[in-house]
Amino acid sequence: MSFSPQAFRQNFPQLGQRVNDKALIYFDNAASTLKHAAAINRSHSYNSYEVSNVHRGAHTLSRQGTENYEAARKVVQRFIGAEHDSEIVFTRGTTESINLVASSLSGLLQTGDEIVLSPFEHHSNIVPWQILCEKRGCELKVLDYSNDIHKLSDILQKVISKKTRLVSFLHYSNSLGHRMPVEKMVEICRENQIMTLIDGAQALLSEKVDVKSLGCDFYCFSGHKLFAPYGIGVLYARQSILEKMPPYQSGGSMIDRVTFGKTTYADSPQKFEAGTPNVAGALAMASALNAIEKDGVQNYHKHVDQLRQRLLKGLRAIPICELYEFHADHFCGVVSFNMKGAHSSDVGTLLDKYGVAVRSGHHCCQPLMDLMGIAGTVRASLAPYNTQAEVDFFIETLKKIEEFF
Ligand code: PMP
Repeated sequence: MSFSPQAFRQNFPQLGQRVNDKALIYFDNAASTLKHAAAINRSHSYNSYEVSNVHRGAHTLSRQGTENYEAARKVVQRFIGAEHDSEIVFTRGTTESINLVASSLSGLLQTGDEIVLSPFEHHSNIVPWQILCEKRGCELKVLDYSNDIHKLSDILQKVISKKTRLVSFLHYSNSLGHRMPVEKMVEICRENQIMTLIDGAQALLSEKVDVKSLGCDFYCFSGHKLFAPYGIGVLYARQSILEKMPPYQSGGSMIDRVTFGKTTYADSPQKFEAGTPNVAGALAMASALNAIEKDGVQNYHKHVDQLRQRLLKGLRAIPICELYEFHADHFCGVVSFNMKGAHSSDVGTLLDKYGVAVRSGHHCCQPLMDLMGIAGTVRASLAPYNTQAEVDFFIETLKKIEEFF
């Protein structure tokens, strides 16, 4: 069945909106996607009729809530191909997932151990490791920057040492769009008994992810980049590692038995889900994932990649456009550029006047921008509900804006 962006758009009520008296063109999907009606309706239904705290009450609503919450975990497990549902920890999002791992692993690392990052990382995959290294006397190493992504695995091979305990890298770059050679990087790490964390925040609308075949130890993502609400995300962690990890936060729900003298903990994933969870968020995210699965991520990607090619062609034809293109085999829907002589935020502000939403700035990748010698970029990020007509309007608008600079 072929994918129809026009039919798909009907699932997103926000697309009907006008901004600055113009039809909204939403090209800021790498920041957050719009919300799918299936997720909106699920959240609304839960909050209207099903509210009850999970894992606690003996009454019917609590029991049903618990069953639905655990069923949502199974949806995530199936969606990313995890072996056990107990390997799925619900978090607030990618940032909290990475913080959970860094904070918990902190107790298992020793002075002199090394953590390795790629140069393309989002601040949320940098700062938690810096804090861990400061606390534990570990060393943070960063792979050399190259705009040829194929070279990254060779660079990794040279950087790791006997002291390297974990390598953490994104799956797709949120600022530049390229896919990392994740399979090769995981393989190198596994050969050297090094743990791997993949930041999948930008990946799951671009390819069918299977954590088992990827072979990574940790995989993190956020619901709000997958048509679901804010405040819900996922940490996948291999069972054998989760069992060794001490709790991240503590309190209700994560315990087995508490006395004033001593506390024993629940098994994973409850051990890592202290306090009342975001039940509505988990149910809404599961509904969004079911909808994505039904449509087929490969269909989304095919459409988005055609739009991306069209966008790149249009941008290359604008002389003052400076494109940041990397050598890689695959890309998500992110295109980054600047207009010579213009600040990226001025371009963003002018586009907004035409109803076009893009992101401008460093995209939470300041160290990468420093390596590239720029302050920031204009980032257009595409989703399956975007259309050729929107891309054409965007290019025509940029040509008008060009005259300002
Ligand atoms: N990593 C990447 C690659 C991202 O794109 C983002 C969101 N921009 C994050 C991490 C952080 O995600 P969140 O804010 O949902 O925790």
